[in-house]
Amino acid sequence: MIENIKYSGELKELFIEAYKLTSDLLSEKMDEKNYIRLGKQIHEMVDRALAGADTSGAACQAGCSYCCNPTIFLTQADVYVLNDFLHKNHGGESRDNIISHFKNRHELTKGLGQNKEVFYRCPFLGKDKSCGAYNARPIICRIHYSMDVMACKRYSGRTYGTPLNMLVGDALDKGWAIINGYRAATKEMGLGVEMVTMEAGILGTQKK
Ligand code: SF4
Repeated sequence: MIENIKYSGELKELFIEAYKLTSDLLSEKMDEKNYIRLGKQIHEMVDRALAGADTSGAACQAGCSYCCNPTIFLTQADVYVLNDFLHKNHGGESRDNIISHFKNRHELTKGLGQNKEVFYRCPFLGKDKSCGAYNARPIICRIHYSMDVMACKRYSGRTYGTPLNMLVGDALDKGWAIINGYRAATKEMGLGVEMVTMEAGILGTQKK
């Protein structure tokens, strides 16, 4: 059982809820199907938590996609949900193009430190600048609300994106409490706490 939780109040509740959900589902079975089940439930938890977050200062609008250029980090559950979406919604040439895009991006981003310039948009970003994987998008995509669109523009090509102080803290704090609850459970189960880039995660999940 977890000790010394650094959160209090609502954040502590979110941390514990994510910890318990992750422990319960992964102790049943650690296969792809259960990770997808877990990822979808974690996404629902994030959306529920953010519905009560104060995002009134956010500058985000439909059609703005600066935050879809930088490196996005995923939990393993995020990876399986997104990969499931990819395989159910894209076949043949379309899927090949997305995988190829991820391969190119991975070549550019692997081993890069912070603040390197890599202009490479997410392959799920549509021509109309809307998210083509909206219901399956990772936690990080769900919790980033910017208060300064010009900062997003300035940082949109960097590997690590917008500085944290430009983001709506309430949404970020709730999202990270959930991510950290998930990671506390995976650490306890010997699965580690590392998050992976979207490209490394998706490429690592393709059947050989
Ligand atoms: S998954 Fe969607 S929201 Fe996330 S970076 Fe890609 S296009 Fe943007």
